[in-house]
Amino acid sequence: MAYSFTQLSNYLRCPRSYRYRYLDGWREKETRAAMAFGRCFESALGAYFRGEDCGAALFTEWSAYRDAAFEYKKGDTWDRLVHQGVHLLERFAQDNRVRIDSPKTNLQIKILQTLTGGSEFVSYLDAIGEVDGVRCVIDWKTTTSRYTQDPDGLLSLDPQLICYSWISGISEVAMVVFVRKHAPEIQYLRASISEEQRREFGRLVETTINQIEAGHFNPHSGIRFPQNGCVSCSHLGLCLNNEQLVAANLIRKAGASDLDWLDELVD
Ligand code: SF4
Repeated sequence: MAYSFTQLSNYLRCPRSYRYRYLDGWREKETRAAMAFGRCFESALGAYFRGEDCGAALFTEWSAYRDAAFEYKKGDTWDRLVHQGVHLLERFAQDNRVRIDSPKTNLQIKILQTLTGGSEFVSYLDAIGEVDGVRCVIDWKTTTSRYTQDPDGLLSLDPQLICYSWISGISEVAMVVFVRKHAPEIQYLRASISEEQRREFGRLVETTINQIEAGHFNPHSGIRFPQNGCVSCSHLGLCLNNEQLVAANLIRKAGASDLDWLDELVD
């Protein structure tokens, strides 16, 4: 059995949701334009580091979704997203703060770790390279609002970055955040992950997988005002036996966990 960060965080958020998704095969329908655009943008970044025309790469990738029935947020349109993407790529090239040597081997890097008991943990790192001259694991994000940096050191608590540091053994991590807004902005955020954090994460992986393999899938309803986790959960229709909600948000596929690497590429 192979596990990933997406699976782990899904289980920790709500074990019942994990069961719906990974055992029963209920997957969320892809209706969010921003998520598909994020994938296209990451392909364009790959083209940039290979010395190709990254604007053209973005346009080609995003064209596949021109007629898709997506939900666009706050006045976004297909055209607006591609324009914002091209501006961000231009800004990124001007900033020139990130270096990736040998992009063929240092982009979308698959790392496997064998766990006690024989299961495997798989991660796809966006990149390993230099940010402002410091070698680190790099995670790309596309978003519509800036990431919070206060208080100082907040990024070192990010579980996905801790996971990447744990699996790669590299202590320095960075998040390059492409903020899609009227005036495009790119945040270059760096953090150091300690040896102790990596050890703790390894223990979290082992104990969580033990729970999964023991078949513990109790619901964590998360019903606390104002942050009710169920409201944003795509499996809400299943928990409420609401067929209308199920049909609107989910699609059932056999062997869903085989496709988990796709989620890894988006994270
Ligand atoms: S709706 Fe709530 S209880 Fe049900 S799977 Fe989602 S988070 Fe868990």
